[in-house]
Amino acid sequence: MTLSPISLAISGDAPGSWTELTLFRFGPPDARRKVYLQAGMHADEQPGMLILHHLLPLLAQAEAEGRLSARFSVVPMANPLGMAHVLHRTHMGRYDLGTGVNHNRRWPDLFAMIGETVAPLLGADPKANIAAIRNAIAEWLDTQSPASAGQQMRLALLREAHDADYVLDLHCDDEALPHIFTAPECAAPMHKLAGWMGGAYTLTAADSGGFSFDEMLPQLFRLLAKAHPDKPIPIQPVAATLEYRGRADTFDALAQKDAEGLIGFFVGEGLIAADPVTLPEPAPAPLPLDATEIVRVDAPGLVAYRVGLGDRVKKGDIIADLVALSGPEAFIARTPIRAGTDGIIISRLTQKYARRGTSIAKIVGETPLPGRVGGYLLED
Ligand SMILES: [Zn+2]
Repeated sequence: MTLSPISLAISGDAPGSWTELTLFRFGPPDARRKVYLQAGMHADEQPGMLILHHLLPLLAQAEAEGRLSARFSVVPMANPLGMAHVLHRTHMGRYDLGTGVNHNRRWPDLFAMIGETVAPLLGADPKANIAAIRNAIAEWLDTQSPASAGQQMRLALLREAHDADYVLDLHCDDEALPHIFTAPECAAPMHKLAGWMGGAYTLTAADSGGFSFDEMLPQLFRLLAKAHPDKPIPIQPVAATLEYRGRADTFDALAQKDAEGLIGFFVGEGLIAADPVTLPEPAPAPLPLDATEIVRVDAPGLVAYRVGLGDRVKKGDIIADLVALSGPEAFIARTPIRAGTDGIIISRLTQKYARRGTSIAKIVGETPLPGRVGGYLLED
């Protein structure tokens, strides 16, 4: 069993600098289906990297035993540029330091890029349509001239992912229970994976408004299907952002179990041959992301939580107190922060100093919230 890293060079924007993007490929090159996994797009989120570290030997072993019936592309550290973003001993891998752009936002609007060129190629065969759309993406990629190291990195990742049937982007929250962001069309398979992630919450949105990596391809197929209602265009791929708990939850025991969970999911999808596996407990049913409340504070303060992860709250319940840090009531007043919906607390802050506007918790509710429906659904 051998692991052979493939290294892609990315030339840096500063004189003399370069970095490398490492990926691994497994499976029969002629396999019909393909799985793409990446971690560390937000470079300061390490649980996914450790999970893919543990997944690599499992895939290599399955390959050596001839059990892979799909191709697998694995990018354990999707954002090597972000690994260098350290300021005053603090690693900040969420935003591009030069532009301030969140690394997982503003991915290309592929419908705008290839919608017109692919239109005349679409026909009555859904498989041929999928192939035509993927070819159009590949051709568009060939025409791109990246102007920066960040663009080189993005194009390399998209090239590796564009023809996959499954695109899984591993992230984590600050302090959190496992959860999944995915498209409504992908909810059924991702709900199965949620079981393998230890009962993760599956939160669905067709378009969360951020042009994040996992939404880019399903959104292209969705818009093409809408523009050509007479043509069969299945939504591709099964794509999701997998939130593997909180930043501090980076441990071998957890990551090994999560890697085995991914293998269990792939076995269930018929992508890896194996003896029948014992299915995990079913996860909570998928819920619309616009029913999840992002609780923000409207003043700076010190957050003193009254709830823990997994607690069920009702609308109006106090979830934390905000201790005033300035003004006549400084260090005396405690302002209650209340839940705006019924639901489960799935995330909190690790740093308890909140500036005005900071999101201090997410509450997974069941009823879409006014102000969220049709709006920007992400935290930042
Ligand atoms: Zn992230």
